Amino acid sequence: MIDIHSHQQRKDIFCVENIIYPLEIDNYNPNTPFSIGFHPYEVDKMDKNNLDKTLSELEHYLTFSNVYLFGEAGLDKQIKTDFSWQISVFEQQLLLNKKIDKPFIVHCVGAYNEIVAIYKKNKCNFPLIFHGFNKKHTVAQELQKQGFYLSFGAALLHNPSTQESFIQADKSLIFLETDAQNSHKIEEIYQKATILAEKGFKIDLAAQIYANFIHLFPKKANFAPVLSYE
Ligand SMILES: [Zn+2]
Repeated sequence: MIDIHSHQQRKDIFCVENIIYPLEIDNYNPNTPFSIGFHPYEVDKMDKNNLDKTLSELEHYLTFSNVYLFGEAGLDKQIKTDFSWQISVFEQQLLLNKKIDKPFIVHCVGAYNEIVAIYKKNKCNFPLIFHGFNKKHTVAQELQKQGFYLSFGAALLHNPSTQESFIQADKSLIFLETDAQNSHKIEEIYQKATILAEKGFKIDLAAQIYANFIHLFPKKANFAPVLSYE
């Protein structure tokens, strides 16, 4: 079982814990899987004149092999932070990741078109995972058609439109996650997702998600910890 995006670590399953840089960097340890990036919520605290320096500090962590994903980073139209500054920070992170070349986990609120446009303008070709996906099927289809991954979380348990998106989604481009909530464990989300997925056709969802994960990390030498969690 893989939890692709969580804000807390679990030792008994393979869980990619997200670190909001630099706020939570003390949580980093070399033995567990992480994602690290500048979250849009923190972007207003950054020094506009020092972005390069801050990015190179972040780069140091991103090169570590237990940091599986760059992010979460992205754009959020529901926060007050100046949107053009959010775009600058997000774009610089995409550019940095062209060098680092890890899959990139995206926080997106109301800015799907902008994110895809910035990704394409910069000729990126690393995988993008839109996390916490809770939009309708047409949006899901549009993103998956372009090869982007969608990660579904607790919204699958109660939101009919998210459930419909999941049922119809291309399962070779999905992940599951717990994110910041802790009322629902990843097991509960897998259980619900399996019931929903089987409305489409018979599928071993956990095996499919494991295959998706391996597809994302074909060259990584550290599959062993993943296998031992399965
Ligand atoms: Zn998150």
